[in-house]
Amino acid sequence: MQMPSFDDLKVVLDARYSEFDLILLQTAYEYAKLAHEGQTRSTGEPYFNHVFQTAVKLAKLRLPSEVIAAGLLHDVPEDTERTLEDVEREFGADIAGMVASCTKLGKVKYRGEERYIENLRKMFVAMAEDVRVIFIKFADRMHNMETLYARPEHKRLRIAKEVMEIYAPIANRLGMAEYRGQFEDHAFKYLFPRDYTWTQHLLEERVRKFGPAMNRAIPTVEKELKDHSVNYVDIHGRMKHCYSLYKKLKKYGNDIDKVYDIVALRIIVPSVSDCYAALGILHSLYTPLPGRIKDYIAQPKPNGYSSLHTTVFDDQGAIVEFQIRTQQMHEEDEYGIAAHWRYKEGSAKNKHVTWMEEFAKIQKEISGDTFMDHLDNMKLDMFRDRIFVFTPRGDVIDLPEESTPVDFAYAVHTDIGNKATMAQVNRVVAPLDTTLKSGDVVEIVTDKNRKLPNEDWLRFVKTHQAREKIKDALRATKRSFIAKMLGRS
Ligand code: MN
Repeated sequence: MQMPSFDDLKVVLDARYSEFDLILLQTAYEYAKLAHEGQTRSTGEPYFNHVFQTAVKLAKLRLPSEVIAAGLLHDVPEDTERTLEDVEREFGADIAGMVASCTKLGKVKYRGEERYIENLRKMFVAMAEDVRVIFIKFADRMHNMETLYARPEHKRLRIAKEVMEIYAPIANRLGMAEYRGQFEDHAFKYLFPRDYTWTQHLLEERVRKFGPAMNRAIPTVEKELKDHSVNYVDIHGRMKHCYSLYKKLKKYGNDIDKVYDIVALRIIVPSVSDCYAALGILHSLYTPLPGRIKDYIAQPKPNGYSSLHTTVFDDQGAIVEFQIRTQQMHEEDEYGIAAHWRYKEGSAKNKHVTWMEEFAKIQKEISGDTFMDHLDNMKLDMFRDRIFVFTPRGDVIDLPEESTPVDFAYAVHTDIGNKATMAQVNRVVAPLDTTLKSGDVVEIVTDKNRKLPNEDWLRFVKTHQAREKIKDALRATKRSFIAKMLGRS
């Protein structure tokens, strides 16, 4: 299989990227290619293809060059001889920091425990620390989903479930409808193959049924817009995502005739006034269906969605739905926060502002106060002074900052706390008062003959839980000692 060339990436980059950006990207391209040399993926293709495709997806989101570079480098420390320090020496702290967060995030794994799903989502967002890392992780996972067929079945199911439960809802909250739709469709295919095939057939049937009318309408509408000097950027057909149709069908008792927006034509125009001008032209050309005209520009949906919708009968009596929107509305609908991010310049200068504040500010611009409702849901502030550490099995333990292995031990189980003798942090022996960091893998070595926790631990534990349990155990022993003494006398 052929190795993608730097030119294959260059064609995706628009004029926004400077000569400096191109130099950075070419350097990262060469670096990653060399680092992954000789490695292959389960599909049999060179490993480098994966990081390359990740970068292409980031370039298509038109994110800053340092994010695309970090995409090229995201698997270097984990999977090659080069270390994070090597990456930092070559590309600086900002890019190395994004790569490090990606590696850490890779450890957040869904293990099928339903009650932890919401925590996992919060943890994913909190651990990313920087919204740019979420974009990289999304692009990375999207390419993994595209090549998921090559993985063994148990891995396919675990990864598909993780995407459905963790990635798609986060994409949704970030307003990234296109990523959410693609994540859900990929996962749907592996989790419910029969329902997927059934829905896919229905979709194809609809396209066969409505396709001819849509194909007829495109040149007619184009000509009419031109004749009335209304500018347009693009007219294209769009099909509902498979999983989203499936959910609607379930809601409407599988009656597909109750779902109107399965196929639609999108008209992208330069300005808001062009949107209304185009709507007027459509209505003079075709007969609108009563009650199907929606002005989401004057009254955006709660998530900030803006467009004009109308459904019409064409001259042969066929029904066609139109969605009219500006380029910016279109990009915001499909790519949400990523669309906003790309317009920002030099994100490095905002380093002092935590990304959540930045993120909240941008989202506020998009959709007024509604985003705060979502935020409330995520309760991210709560997580600002929390760390997330892992058991050797990959379960997540959520602790306050500066917690120690003793706090961890009591959070796992009282008995493990009481009998702890030693800790291993990231497979290295560490004292029980070590300060833990997010992403650490912690293992507690216990001694089953040990009867009591050490009173000294009270000096350094951070959690209320650990402190109380240590005191309880010590108190209980004192009581039984006294009881023994009394019994003896
Ligand atoms: Mn990867």
